Amino acid sequence: MKKIVIGTSNPHKLTEMNSINTFSDICFETVKGEFDPDENGKTFLENAIIKAKAGAVLTGEYCLADDSGLCVDFLGGQPGLMSARYETTREKRIQKLLNEMSSAPKDKRNAHFICTMALCSPKGEVLHTTQGRVDGVIIEELKGLNGFGYDPVFFIPEYNQTMAEMSEEDKNKISHRANALKPMLEWIEANL
Ligand code: IMP
Repeated sequence: MKKIVIGTSNPHKLTEMNSINTFSDICFETVKGEFDPDENGKTFLENAIIKAKAGAVLTGEYCLADDSGLCVDFLGGQPGLMSARYETTREKRIQKLLNEMSSAPKDKRNAHFICTMALCSPKGEVLHTTQGRVDGVIIEELKGLNGFGYDPVFFIPEYNQTMAEMSEEDKNKISHRANALKPMLEWIEANL
């Protein structure tokens, strides 16, 4: 069994990653206790590496971490790296986004989620990195109750649903996290 610690304190990410992982010999575990490394990188990749290194050194295990965020074209890529810290609560973050987008016309509401993943060895060396993306549109009001974060305002035209209206199964077919995790799992399967 290939045991990989996931460097996150976000239970939604872990649930999604467990659903996306269909390899029966790769098993994800959480970092026990408090896990809150200082995410002071200048890119998603730097932050993913900071978290993967911190988790590996703390546990002495292989550690996989992701850094993800929502990039909105009309806002010059914001909230981007600041997605988790755009405001103090989830409701306020979504409301701030909708306020900032209130003057954006219908054809200028494109956005994408990015997910960057880094895998570190038990010694904290970076072994492999991947990146995934999903494109969508920011709608004007919240729709749907599934998922987490900005999912209720992130609309996927191909499904005619927000990511919060999609089933967990559908989100995990097309999400930025799935698009980053699938090649990472293949690399782990082939190399560890
Ligand atoms: P991180 O934990 O520093 O990677 O923060 C990522 C932030 O981006 C989360 O707190 C969410 O606000 C947002 N985010 C990332 N992935 C998703 C997703 O799948 N759905 C909705 N929001 C997401």
